[in-house]
Amino acid sequence: MISFNLPVFTGKEFNYIKEAIEHKKICGDGIFTKRCNNWMEDRFETPKAMLTTSCTHALEMAAILANIKEGDEVIMPSFTFVSTADAFVVRGAKIVFVDIRPDTMNIDENLIEAAITEKTKAIVPVHYAGIGCEMDKIMEIAKKHNIFVIEDAAQGVMSQYKGKALGTIGDFGCYSFHETKNYTMGEGGAILVNKPQFIERAEIIREKGTDRSKFFRGQVDKYTWVDLGSSYLPSEMNAAYLWAQLEIADEINDYRLGVWNRYYEGFASLKNDKIIDLPVIPEHCKQNAHMFYIKVKDLTERTRLIEFLKDNGIQSVFHYIPLHNSPYGKKVGVFNGKDVHTTAESDRLLRLPMYYGLKSEEVDYVVSKIKEFYITRN
Ligand SMILES: *Cc1c(COP(=O)(O)O)cnc(C)c1O
Repeated sequence: MISFNLPVFTGKEFNYIKEAIEHKKICGDGIFTKRCNNWMEDRFETPKAMLTTSCTHALEMAAILANIKEGDEVIMPSFTFVSTADAFVVRGAKIVFVDIRPDTMNIDENLIEAAITEKTKAIVPVHYAGIGCEMDKIMEIAKKHNIFVIEDAAQGVMSQYKGKALGTIGDFGCYSFHETKNYTMGEGGAILVNKPQFIERAEIIREKGTDRSKFFRGQVDKYTWVDLGSSYLPSEMNAAYLWAQLEIADEINDYRLGVWNRYYEGFASLKNDKIIDLPVIPEHCKQNAHMFYIKVKDLTERTRLIEFLKDNGIQSVFHYIPLHNSPYGKKVGVFNGKDVHTTAESDRLLRLPMYYGLKSEEVDYVVSKIKEFYITRN
């Protein structure tokens, strides 16, 4: 069976976890957490990056930093993971969904402004498949209406939009290091605080609402409870696991891009014959090969293809059920405007095996089986 995903393992993780244990400091913010944070700050060019226990928690921190309160409205696509919305719903926000662009599956930047009311506090662009949203336009709208931009860059680690790392363009950026992502620590994530005036409060929120980070730096002589907060620090064991991958981040990225390109070339004829659609990468975006998906004719064809691939030892999966169609999404959100593409495009999308270590022969096998499916069908 060719798995859809296998968590990244480079070989050095055991050594680093052992090292973390030998340091006798296994709670948060030890040497491996600091290494990861510094690496992200240097690499992605942001004033502050901090590991968190998940991307969901990074989004929750961003919601607190943006002072999201009961009745505030937050704009996002409906084609996303539940966490994008959950993080704001726990603060009492109403979610306003906007349709996606059929080419990138990202929020349609041209529909955002119509969804803004005096209650709107934030826009949450989701960089689907690690491909950047149209950030110039989104930042321009946010500036005009004086609202926050919180990037859900869970899938966008190492991707760029016009030369800037995804996650560093809005006020806050949120990464995921869940085992299904390009770089992993099992469960984990990071918040990028792109405006220096929010750094101090972000540290406090992450440390249960205390000024403990200042205490450790010797800036205050005891630490105390000063704000809202929670426990958003991952343990050193998790950070140590992640460090082994960040160290070779380019190698992992190049490998994934190799897999992605092999799929893309393999499917060129099916695309030219208009049998399937392939992902679109805008000229100004640099992607990280987080995902390889194809788009088939419709839901029926997709269900048959998933079955066919499964019978041939290949695990393929569809993705989000649009949030505005889910039971809870209906309670806490509204879809602004018409759902022209969100449901229709999500019904057609099929994700293929993609992970660091997936072999060329395996990619070729998947491609050949999908071609076989269409030849036998016709
Ligand atoms: C994976 C993912 C998340 C959640 O990440 P966790 O680290 O599991 O909390 C949020 N948003 C998107 C778009 C994701 O893909």
